[in-house]
Amino acid sequence: MYDFVVVGVGPAGARFSRRAAESGYDVLALEKGTIGTPLACSGHVSTDIWAFTGDGAREELFQNEIYGARFHVGGPHSDAYPFYKREVASNVIDRVGLDRHLADLAREAGADVREEHTVTNVTEHPDRVDVVANGPDGTVEFEAKMVAGCDGPRSRVRDALELPEPDELLHGVLAFSDEDDGEDFVDVHLTAPTFFAWRIPRGEAGVEYGLAAPPGVEVTKHFEELIDGYEIDVTHRCSGAIPIGPPDRVTTRRGFLIGDAAAQTKPFTGGGILYGMTSADHAADAIDPDRPTTLEAYERAWRDDLERDQALGHWLRRAYSLPEPVQRVGLGALSGEIGVHMDRPSSLVSMAHLKAVLSRR
Ligand SMILES: Cc1cc2nc3c(=O)[nH]c(=O)nc-3n(C[C@H](O)[C@H](O)[C@H](O)COP(=O)(O)OP(=O)(O)OC[C@H]3O[C@@H](n4cnc5c(N)ncnc54)[C@H](O)[C@@H]3O)c2cc1C
Repeated sequence: MYDFVVVGVGPAGARFSRRAAESGYDVLALEKGTIGTPLACSGHVSTDIWAFTGDGAREELFQNEIYGARFHVGGPHSDAYPFYKREVASNVIDRVGLDRHLADLAREAGADVREEHTVTNVTEHPDRVDVVANGPDGTVEFEAKMVAGCDGPRSRVRDALELPEPDELLHGVLAFSDEDDGEDFVDVHLTAPTFFAWRIPRGEAGVEYGLAAPPGVEVTKHFEELIDGYEIDVTHRCSGAIPIGPPDRVTTRRGFLIGDAAAQTKPFTGGGILYGMTSADHAADAIDPDRPTTLEAYERAWRDDLERDQALGHWLRRAYSLPEPVQRVGLGALSGEIGVHMDRPSSLVSMAHLKAVLSRR
């Protein structure tokens, strides 16, 4: 019997597998396809990412560094309102490479990471969890003391454990052009209902154009308008779901969710790589597979850490739906140098931000 079966080897699953294996637990991690694919993510992250990676990661994964964002109420030719830091605010990285790198770290720590294993069922018993998967040689069944559902926004583990759904699932699309652009600003267009569209320069890896919006919105139509506005040809179109608003509970007696499965994302950007891995660390610190009551400590720890920033993130997102004239006045008044950490909107109330605002001329 394994201590943990981890379902899904994205950033959250790989990080938890690594940390649990380092603590001496017997970990089996199952990934339905090939790790890192298919791509459905911008890989735009704060520089905190490098605290979660191993040797040589920056050389392998780094694509571009970003100092700020130009906000636009309209399309590419509308006025730009820049928000920026004096130091690097974020990095654009190779997301497929990141997942592979994190999975390798989990393997090196001793986790048994298996690709091409799709988990089809999870059954919780008082003393164990049974996990059924379809592998290359047919159906296989595993027993574990606990199961970690790290299987993304449409989590099968969440359904099997009868845990509640996130509040919302946005639909995100992205595509790439072959422009070589090492500029250090991203562009954000408040043109998609309740969310936004973006342009991210990725250095020699080209430029990414993307957009996310709630179900019911004609995402493709809005995306075509963005591309037409930039007058650019794009290829490698892909899409994915972005969960917003964590459910009230992400743990059962012998099961728990981490990452997108638990909607551990930033409501105002949809970013979840750092929140998922931060929560994986809380899970690894708190959970003892022989003591199911420790799941409660995980539930408390990740919420204590992220709840305030997620609540503030919801408020920030509301600004995307304000009438355009109000957005223009607000962006005009607030733009300039900032000291806010992109993962922590609570840093709006910080000395760093206050100093940055006071230093504006
Ligand atoms: C368009 C778009 C752009 C984004 N851009 C950013 C960004 O710039 N920065 C950022 O921080 N975040 C971004 N995100 C969000 C980010 O991609 C997620 O928050 C992050 O991937 C969550 O990590 P995870 O490990 O929880 O889930 P995932 O990365 O989704 O990993 C889940 C894994 O589980 C596997 N799996 C699923 N079901 C099963 C099963 N039944 N059996 C076995 N394996 C299974 C999947 O194949 C996958 O590998 C973006 C998302 C979208 C859609």
